[in-house]
Amino acid sequence: MSAAVEHRGPAPTPAVLAPFARAGGRALMLGHVHPDADVLGTLLALGQALETRDWRVTYGGPHAAPAALGFLPGVDRYRACAAIEGALDVTVLTDCPNPQRTEGLIDQARRAGGLVVNIDHHPDNRRYGDVNWIDVSASATGEMVYELLLALGWPLTPAIATNLFTAIHTDTGSFRYSNVTERTFRIAAALVAAGARPALVSEWLYERRAPDALAWLGEALRRVELSDDGRLAWLALPAGALPERFIESEELVNYPRSVVSVRVACLLREQGDAVKVSLRAKGDVDVQRIAAQFGGGGHANAAGCTLAGGLGEATPRVLAAVRAALAAAPGGGRPVP
Ligand code: 5GP
Ligand code: MN
Repeated sequence: MSAAVEHRGPAPTPAVLAPFARAGGRALMLGHVHPDADVLGTLLALGQALETRDWRVTYGGPHAAPAALGFLPGVDRYRACAAIEGALDVTVLTDCPNPQRTEGLIDQARRAGGLVVNIDHHPDNRRYGDVNWIDVSASATGEMVYELLLALGWPLTPAIATNLFTAIHTDTGSFRYSNVTERTFRIAAALVAAGARPALVSEWLYERRAPDALAWLGEALRRVELSDDGRLAWLALPAGALPERFIESEELVNYPRSVVSVRVACLLREQGDAVKVSLRAKGDVDVQRIAAQFGGGGHANAAGCTLAGGLGEATPRVLAAVRAALAAAPGGGRPVP
């Protein structure tokens, strides 16, 4: 197929390919806190490809995979782990901008001898690996791992294709966000050709709500608040207001974001003595810079951070930072007519 190179982003360099060149190595696919589908899908896909080359692969991170992603092929192999055991040749992290997000596991992996390969699309990646491959033009690290397998010349199995397709599907909001490019669709098409089933992935992701979920969703939506000028919407959830398993299974921040006038949406979740904040924008304000003010990070349109203390302190601090960013935005962050 002569046009095969068209959809390729910055190709992985020989330094990125080299750690995987041998057969029969030992690899750890290391996830970060609260792994999402881009982390899990890429770790599983690359690990499964290595296993076809006789590598011994372990999968894990500080937290287990969420139940809602139980459909990812091979996700049962991914474990929450407190310690890294055995010697390693390579440790791969995907979608992880900051090594602190492994809660110390990366240091244990280094002591186990593993060369650390850092594959990510976050602009604020700290380049903590022995090998760093950062492509901020990728909608998801799913695109990058696809490029990697292509460059290695390794075939895509239906399981690998499903894992990568789901990674891209979720990080692009089902191919709706501004990070979607022609390359995204070309890669998605190749993954479908290799056995990913889009309707099945959508059903697994969005059509499997628990019977009580709609009532909880109603409870959540009642709590959405909108600023007087309509540009800022937020949802503040006190500890225990909604079941954790429900919150984990929904992208609740998308609801305040969906209001026509909204330029920035926030979800604030009180968890113990801290508040986890999710920020979303529609292109007027760089929410990664807001999250960074509180020690967090992410992308221009999707970022997050955690503040110590309760909702009563965190909410006004975060909203003030967002209001300041809106005031400084071109056109005051007003919707484009
Ligand atoms: P979410 O709001 O879905 O948790 O995260 C959105 C984006 O922000 C993701 O790209 C995620 O990596 C990033 N992000 C979320 N929370 C944090 C955080 O506490 N620290 C950093 N550095 N990034 C975060
Ligand atoms: Mn990602």
